[in-house]
Amino acid sequence: MASVQKTPSHLPVIALAGNPNVGKSTIFNCLTNLRQHTGNWSGKTVSCAQGITSWHGQDYAVVDLPGTYSLAAHSAEEEVARDFIRFGGADACVVICDATCLERNLNLVLQIMSISRRVIVCVNLCDEADRKGISVDFARLSDLLGVPVVSASAARREGLDRLMEEIEKMVRHSPAPSSAPDCPEVVKASQCPDSPLFDEATVLSFVARAQEITAQTVRLSRGDGRSLDRRLDRLFTGPATAIPIMLLFLLAIFWLTIWGANYPSSLLSSLLFGIEERLLGLADALKAPAWLSGLLIQGMYRVLAWVVSVMLPPMAIFFPLFTLLEDLGYLPRVAFNLDPFFKKCRACGKQALTMCMGLGCNACGVAGCRIIDSRRERLIAILTNSFVPCNGRFPTLLALISMFVVGLNAGGAGSLLSAAAMTGLILFSILMTFAASSFLSRTLLKGEPSAFTLELPPYRRPQVLRVLVRSVLDRTLFVLGRAVAVAIPAGLLIWILANVSAGGVSLLSHLSSCLDPLGRLMGMDGVILAAFILGWPANEIVLPIILMCYMSAGTLTDYESLADLHCILTANGWTLTTALCTMTFCLFHWPCSTTCLTVKKETGSLRWTAAALLIPALTGTVLCILLASLCRLAGLG
Ligand code: GDP
Repeated sequence: MASVQKTPSHLPVIALAGNPNVGKSTIFNCLTNLRQHTGNWSGKTVSCAQGITSWHGQDYAVVDLPGTYSLAAHSAEEEVARDFIRFGGADACVVICDATCLERNLNLVLQIMSISRRVIVCVNLCDEADRKGISVDFARLSDLLGVPVVSASAARREGLDRLMEEIEKMVRHSPAPSSAPDCPEVVKASQCPDSPLFDEATVLSFVARAQEITAQTVRLSRGDGRSLDRRLDRLFTGPATAIPIMLLFLLAIFWLTIWGANYPSSLLSSLLFGIEERLLGLADALKAPAWLSGLLIQGMYRVLAWVVSVMLPPMAIFFPLFTLLEDLGYLPRVAFNLDPFFKKCRACGKQALTMCMGLGCNACGVAGCRIIDSRRERLIAILTNSFVPCNGRFPTLLALISMFVVGLNAGGAGSLLSAAAMTGLILFSILMTFAASSFLSRTLLKGEPSAFTLELPPYRRPQVLRVLVRSVLDRTLFVLGRAVAVAIPAGLLIWILANVSAGGVSLLSHLSSCLDPLGRLMGMDGVILAAFILGWPANEIVLPIILMCYMSAGTLTDYESLADLHCILTANGWTLTTALCTMTFCLFHWPCSTTCLTVKKETGSLRWTAAALLIPALTGTVLCILLASLCRLAGLG
């Protein structure tokens, strides 16, 4: 989630409320120029974000509340939203509605109006409604509700000036916010703040009134406006087609990522390693001591160059493709399709969403687990998130697949075969997530799965340009920045370990010989295990560390092509078994340091953080030992 500013307390406060997925974050971002995460699925905003907007010289504090369907507060997000609306003292409460399904949204509008007098209704997504042949009579809607109504298409920045005008009018010309409007239901509720806000009869009256108002204000010019959605849903969530289509999407994303990243990766690598040669030449000319140029250029710079050239291109392709699917509204369908499997494991179907986020970055996936209401199910999702490989692990997996599984002479079909193998690996990691979740819910975290409602949002045409900009700026550069921040000190440490020796042998070699017996048992060797340990700060530096140890060069090794890398590895005893075991351990070992910190933050417990570290590590160790034994039995070498 993007960082947000602290809001000065003297400014008028505008609260943005509404159902999930109606464009609150989009409006918040337009008003405040911040980059709160937006996406076509409910539950992605789990806490209040704050920012500042200016209108006619006046600053306003804007608060983006988590999406909520009612003020009944069944979940943590609903509670946050309800309490802010009731006690937050907002000077204007903008209730954002989706023009394509106004009736459901009006239910919340009526609930909020019954506890706050300062409501402005903003009917967003009018462009979508137009496309679906839905028209809304805004003047009539305003008359019937008795509050200002503004129409908007936030994605095109339309209608936001009118919204600010209405807010200005409300803040400037209305009396100060009143805490308890004279509404009978609220008087009842305010006598006992923890009791439900509305009784059953009142809720039903809101539903009936929302229906009435919709009947008088919404017109459909063709069909019911959602027939295409239903046809797509039959395809994407149908019993026979759902899983094959999911796998096809995954295959297509990986194929485009692998195929598209090849050329820019080698271009970047020759550029950055070319700069390194110049830097070394410069250090020579300046007569810099060898240890200093080794440390700074062959240590720090080389790790940096490696991480940038290997990580940037696949990320710059994978993240936008993934974000396009998110914007289309496909992710909740994935959760829907995987829900029965998670239920069988006594976990929550929403875990599928956090798992998808984990494919991008496990730390984001762990933070996203807040959308799961039950503590037990949230913990299961947190503890198993790193079972799916994050983007940082892709380069290692892809390189090993190309060299040892598909083969370097596969020709034009190579990228497709690699993508298929990668899809197979992801599928395996998903199956292992089910197995681990099931194990946890029968042992450490016993319990029954809770019921949950997950809205299947309307399909929306992805906004390609915005997706590109957003995924490159918010995700790619963010993840890359973090990897670089970690890679620089890691490069330094690795250089020191490889160059400082005790008894004539480098510290790195000492470490790898200690780990060698365990490594061999697991089908790898001590060097590979040492690399996984040293790669704790960032998974993407595991392969470079392995190479560095083998070359005993004391610095990260650059290589011109995968063929060179293949030669180095096979010269050091790598076989298909080594590659398969390394890939397995790459899938299942400890989460990176950032993810561990996030687990600690989210669970507030060292015990659960240790569990998040140990569960995948033990799983990986056992799997590797089994796989290595099987390979030996099969005579694979
Ligand atoms: P929130 O959950 O209410 O914060 O909703 P978001 O701001 O994340 O928006 C949900 C989805 O709707 C995103 O994919 C947005 O790009 C999209 N969206 C928001 N406003 C509009 C709009 O006016 N028109 C269209 N077509 N899409 C919109």
